[in-house]
Amino acid sequence: NTELTQEWLQNYVDDWVRFYRKHTVDGELASYIPQLTKADPNALGVIIMGNNGMTIKSGDVDATFSIQSISKVFAFIVACMDRGVSYVLNRVDVEPTGHAFNSIIHLEMRKIEKPFNPLINAGAITVTSMLQGRTSDEKLEGIFQLLEKILGRRPELDVDVYESERESSIRNRGIGYFLLEAGVLESDLGITLETYFKQCSIKITVEDLAKLGLILANDGMDKTTGEEIIPRQIARLAKVLMLTCGMYDASGKFAAYVGVPAKSGVAGGIMASVPPRIREEVLPFMDGCGVGVYGPALDEQGNSVAGTRLLRHIASHWDFSIF
Ligand code: GLN
Repeated sequence: NTELTQEWLQNYVDDWVRFYRKHTVDGELASYIPQLTKADPNALGVIIMGNNGMTIKSGDVDATFSIQSISKVFAFIVACMDRGVSYVLNRVDVEPTGHAFNSIIHLEMRKIEKPFNPLINAGAITVTSMLQGRTSDEKLEGIFQLLEKILGRRPELDVDVYESERESSIRNRGIGYFLLEAGVLESDLGITLETYFKQCSIKITVEDLAKLGLILANDGMDKTTGEEIIPRQIARLAKVLMLTCGMYDASGKFAAYVGVPAKSGVAGGIMASVPPRIREEVLPFMDGCGVGVYGPALDEQGNSVAGTRLLRHIASHWDFSIF
């Protein structure tokens, strides 16, 4: 009986959210972008959206927040769709760094002529420079169109976050100058950075993250309409990057303890993709699901502290790991 199952799963998730909300005190709001300190540090919410049509929502699911680094996945997808995968991968590598997302250490290593991966700031800014268009708004259009197709509405920019981000952008400008010197940028540095700050400021919800995660879980296919929204090869590559680099310098631990492709952002969002799994025993969401999490108190690596622990709990309880 589906209704009973739904209620039963809902009770579990409610309990877990209640428990892990207490863990938000172990983290801190990102303060290097001043506007992000306006969030409620104790917020925690999760939505699990299954291919079986079942959706579980728990906690602070009505909050809106900026997409931040999760946008890097979609900028990469759009760049690959516009320019071709090999074009993009000739300019940015697919190797994890083990360093912080905004690290400049590797940019100083002269032997390396391209950024390590599209999910650290250096690689993401390089990818953003490859987006089509002359102005930052033209460059953003491809990302907006892709998100609109998946979410069923055109998301908006959080102008306050965007301005805050631009005003506190010394590190990202520093990274930009390194990239300019290395000759990897395909567009004007100023326009590229404007585009990057705007893409990070797109306003989303936990439900949006679950929908986006679900499309990626299905290799780019919208299973309700049968439409291929992202070419399979590109969706798969995006998931490889999420698994190896998506949680910054905690990606190894996340793969070990959660075991699914995921991407976090410093506003506290996490998007996770759980592909369909074959199991002998019946488990919730074994047909695959997308998971959106929001919890703005962050750990040292810049990942939602309670959100990561909640995901770990759900993933181990329902055996989400792809391994
Ligand atoms: N806009 C943020 C930055 O560039 C994005 C980083 C993040 O979410 N990790 O610093």
